[in-house]
Amino acid sequence: MDEVERLHILDQYGILDTPHEEPFERIAALARLIFDTPIALISLIDDRRQWFKSNIGLDIRETPREQAFCNETIRSDDVLVISNAERDIRTARNPLVTGNPYIRFYAGAPLVTPEKARLGSLCVIDREPRQFDERQKAILQSLAGLVMKEMELRRQTDHDWLTGATSRAAFQATAQRLVEGKGPPSIGLISFDIDHFKQINDRFGHLAGDRVLVDVVDICRTVLRDCDVLSRLGGEEFAILLPGATQASAVSIAERLRQAVATCHHAEIDRSVTASFGITMLEPSDQGLADALRRADAALYRSKATGRNRVSCSWTSPQAASSQDRIARTRT
Ligand code: GH3
Ligand code: MG
Ligand code: MG
Repeated sequence: MDEVERLHILDQYGILDTPHEEPFERIAALARLIFDTPIALISLIDDRRQWFKSNIGLDIRETPREQAFCNETIRSDDVLVISNAERDIRTARNPLVTGNPYIRFYAGAPLVTPEKARLGSLCVIDREPRQFDERQKAILQSLAGLVMKEMELRRQTDHDWLTGATSRAAFQATAQRLVEGKGPPSIGLISFDIDHFKQINDRFGHLAGDRVLVDVVDICRTVLRDCDVLSRLGGEEFAILLPGATQASAVSIAERLRQAVATCHHAEIDRSVTASFGITMLEPSDQGLADALRRADAALYRSKATGRNRVSCSWTSPQAASSQDRIARTRT
């Protein structure tokens, strides 16, 4: 598997830079107890660093990728054991060996996904040289399997199984985090719904309909930035959070999405489909995401009522009153 695909799969887990979580902490703590080491880590390797989901016995949360022992571990499905890092040509000059935390012993089991991507490792580390036997390797590998099961569970609940878009629950949690955190000053919200989708199912079958849903998500991803969050709220209804967007940029993104969807030809049904869009901004006065979604949906229904394949806005702020209920011009 090439590195681009590996990173794409890692991305789907949405785990990087998330807080410590109990199931992962428990497994790392168990590894430390079983092997009686001062340090146990759950490490994930992204393009430039290793980041620790769990870092028991170590103060840092990440290191450059070049320094990562786990970078070596993910080259194979086997447990990597380095009995004395000071004497091993691969690690003798590593700053984590020559300096703090003075690693001597390392044993790491790769975290392998169902599609065989090796994302990182569960590893135990000591400041003294040690041996590690076959039985210990098997135990470490089983614990790594448990880490992977937890990650898998989270991938499935955080993402829609069909399209890979963010699930409704995860979308809500992200919106909450963005609003509460010191996030971007303004956040746009787009909701959209595929037009006459029932007819597509009725005419070409449910499977072809499913394929169209997948295509639509893929097309949207080509327009959106990495920080935008696309969710399938249900059926053929989607929502997008646009952190840092202004009213003007949210309108322009929605318009680009509309055009991208409308011009994509779907091989299974030998035609294109269109979608109707509604836009709003998250407001400080909103009691929750639901309030903003209601506004976006009201705008979306105006798009439906006025001919579909168009973008409508619902602003609440006074300075935007002149553009309230504006319907962006669409090519028909
Ligand atoms: P409108 O333009 O008013 O949105 O019309 P519509 O036909 O898209 O809307 P309606 O709500 O009547 O129908 C939505 C359809 O979406 C009905 C349902 O069969 C289909 N649908 C919902 N979820 C899925 C899914 O996961 N896969 C497929 N293939 N179809 C789905
Ligand atoms: Mg629809
Ligand atoms: Mg619908």
